[in-house]
Amino acid sequence: MTKKVLRFAPSPTGYLHIGNIRTALFNYLQAKKLGAEFILRLDDTDSERSSQHFIDQIKRDLDWLGINWDRIEQQSLRIERYREVLTKLENQNMVYECFETSSELEIKRKKQQKRGLPPVYDREGLKLSEAEKDALRNELEGHWRFLLSGENVTWQDEISGEINVRTSVVSDPILVKGNGQFLYTLASVIDDSDFGVTNVVRGIDHLTNTAVQIEIFRNLSAVVPVFGHHSLIVDSSGENFSKRTGSLSIKSLRESGIEPGAIVSKLVSLGTGDGINLKNNINEFIQKFSLSKYSTAPVRFEKEVLATVSRKLLSSLGIDEISGLLSSIGVPNEMKEDFWIMAKDNIDAKEELADIWNLCKDGVNKPVIAPEDEKFIKLAISLIGEYPREKDSWQKLTEELKTLTGRKGKDLFMPLRCFLTGKKDGPDMKKLFPLMQKIQKPGSS
Ligand code: GLU
Repeated sequence: MTKKVLRFAPSPTGYLHIGNIRTALFNYLQAKKLGAEFILRLDDTDSERSSQHFIDQIKRDLDWLGINWDRIEQQSLRIERYREVLTKLENQNMVYECFETSSELEIKRKKQQKRGLPPVYDREGLKLSEAEKDALRNELEGHWRFLLSGENVTWQDEISGEINVRTSVVSDPILVKGNGQFLYTLASVIDDSDFGVTNVVRGIDHLTNTAVQIEIFRNLSAVVPVFGHHSLIVDSSGENFSKRTGSLSIKSLRESGIEPGAIVSKLVSLGTGDGINLKNNINEFIQKFSLSKYSTAPVRFEKEVLATVSRKLLSSLGIDEISGLLSSIGVPNEMKEDFWIMAKDNIDAKEELADIWNLCKDGVNKPVIAPEDEKFIKLAISLIGEYPREKDSWQKLTEELKTLTGRKGKDLFMPLRCFLTGKKDGPDMKKLFPLMQKIQKPGSS
């Protein structure tokens, strides 16, 4: 059996967003499921818009999500190879040089649209004689188009079923721009063929590209990969996500404290009939992953849901999964378990754990005491024993205060919480109080 190869091929022209990550995730999980090689391919032939900054960020985002690649390929380093293949296609008369400027092309399109015709390139370039081309070359940089067959291209899509695209309704694609820049259409086919890519999973917005690329694969006598086109994610107003909106960039989600496992868990279930299955480790999704489960209809994604999923995932983490982080913020081994049980349901993000630990270690910075509670708190302070405390120290303290003052319910508990934590809400005091090593007395800070 031939080795399977998959790839994720972002253009480093912006930050990855939730839509790109869905594609990355599908390719990664499918690669792992098939025991395939997984390539990170950087589609960076547009030197003006691509940057090292975005390359670094893409790697960081994927790494953070647990999407590991076996090797990296970079299109900008393969231009010689693309030139070689272009010459081959030229010798086969499968590409032709054109000289229209973009504004001329725009005028042509508008005229066609006015006449109710599809805006397909009229192949004027193909009619130019050698002498005419020579003359044009003195003034303009020519661009190169691929000559489509105009026939029906059909394939069995792993997600969308049988697809048919007649390439007569598609403009001959530009492969190389006037400035010499190789465009994605050809570069991608050459890479997929050279790297032995067997399966391509990408967005349904690439359907026409796929038909065009299948024709190029065939002209190069290359093996056509198996394709799967997934539906696109839309935001709550039904709009597609764009890389440039930044609203749902992985970077911003990370910075807002969302757990990577929450993003992965949400994306794996999105567009299937399955409920969300929370997993902290991406590789736990490999075994049950199946492209055929995903619907072809656009899927709505709401950012707010992620915060809830992230909170749930956090609170489901076992002590082994959080132990490293607890060490890094200074929680001693023997306290980790009790600390985690106390804190886990009270955090939106891991970053908040350090503050909770500081509260345990040093007490609150500013105890809050209402004037009418001053006497009550004084009494409480006289009853609070030294650390270490018993597991039931909170119950004992509050029972004693209840007996001595007659206070109960909110009147009993709220002033104590405000005094000990500075806030009206927070972790269960029954679990927090035994872990508090220092109590800040009024005026002691
Ligand atoms: N660079 C292309 C994109 O980001 C890759 C598409 C493909 O997977 O072939 O849309």
